[in-house]
Amino acid sequence: GGNSMKKDFPLLTNIDIAYLDNASTTQKPKQVIQAIVDFYENSNANVHRGIYNLSQKASLMYAEAHETVAKFIGANEDEIIFTKGTTDSINILAQSLKKTLKEGDEIVISEMEHHSNIIPWQQVAKEVGARLKYIPITDKFELDMDKAKKLINKKTKIVSVVHMSNTLGTINPIKELTELAHKFGAVIIIDGAQSVPHMPIDVRGLDCDFLAFSGHKMVGPTGIGVLYGKRARLEKLDPSVFGGGMIKEVTKEAATWADLPEKFEAGTPAIAQAIGLAEAIRYLENIGMKKVFVHGQKLTKYAQEQLSQIEGIEIFGPEENRGSMIAFNVKGIHPHDVSEILNQKGVAVRAGNHCTMPLHNRFELQGSTRASFYIYNTEEDIDRLAKGIRTAKEILK
Ligand code: PLP
Repeated sequence: GGNSMKKDFPLLTNIDIAYLDNASTTQKPKQVIQAIVDFYENSNANVHRGIYNLSQKASLMYAEAHETVAKFIGANEDEIIFTKGTTDSINILAQSLKKTLKEGDEIVISEMEHHSNIIPWQQVAKEVGARLKYIPITDKFELDMDKAKKLINKKTKIVSVVHMSNTLGTINPIKELTELAHKFGAVIIIDGAQSVPHMPIDVRGLDCDFLAFSGHKMVGPTGIGVLYGKRARLEKLDPSVFGGGMIKEVTKEAATWADLPEKFEAGTPAIAQAIGLAEAIRYLENIGMKKVFVHGQKLTKYAQEQLSQIEGIEIFGPEENRGSMIAFNVKGIHPHDVSEILNQKGVAVRAGNHCTMPLHNRFELQGSTRASFYIYNTEEDIDRLAKGIRTAKEILK
């Protein structure tokens, strides 16, 4: 249960809060905080450079972090590139893939993408004269797969789609999209920022070419994220960030690239954060990702039941097959005002467009309020949310 887990999270003990903004970032357990402190107190040195013991120890720990992440998603360790986060992963990839595109090529994304999976492609499309196309969303808050089948064709070079929507909670049919993309020889990228923290992920099963996610949304530290890529894809791809650590040999005129994953990890990496992320993964594996998923499902179902009893509330997202969050609006009240009253009641939620403006436009919404759950949340947190919404209605009516 969620309650017994709360004691692992110092912030949740130090502050009286119903923390329901987990899709933005999660709290950190003491195990992760301690792993970072331990690293700085006992193992800190740069990686890949020193011959001395301390540097070798840091390098080993950093390599082990790649291994831990790899096992977690069913990949090989040389297929795991550490980045700053999902945004960074997609930008790095977009810059590298740009070199494989030509005028008239098509990039397919969807109407429910986070801005970080829209804007890099807008920029790339502009630069090379490619066309950016959007898979539409049905009135049931799902990808319109009939339209997707027409949109993805022999002109398509890249398909980049969110696995679990950070606003609707919709879980998209990745396997089907992967097969569709591969049928036409296109590369498929999955934005796993919300799915990797919430469900068991097996990149071999999904057969995606690339997967991006962030450590801080899965009880890990900020400043660390992952770009997974199939080895064959990564080997063929040119890097887009250059400098130390990513080269084999350098002359005044040219350079050759290091092996994977170093080729894509220029500069001193976020070593402590990578070690923190590995500890976060151990924490989640200890619970079991199936349990993590089920807990999220239970809380979301409970929130749907509780919130739908409030008059004038409109809940977005599919009825079934959805992730651990719930976005809603209260009739006649601005989302910012709802969240301000909730704040006064010690309930932290997100209000606005949640970096999904085209999605909100699709449903003609200015914004919404989003409550998102994680392993330590309880039904009491949701009761507090429902009570807060009722209070907001009374005060603001
Ligand atoms: N994609 C989705 C679906 C997200 O929810 C987020 C989180 O904000 C991101 C991408 C961007 O993640 P980050 O801010 O960690 O780079």
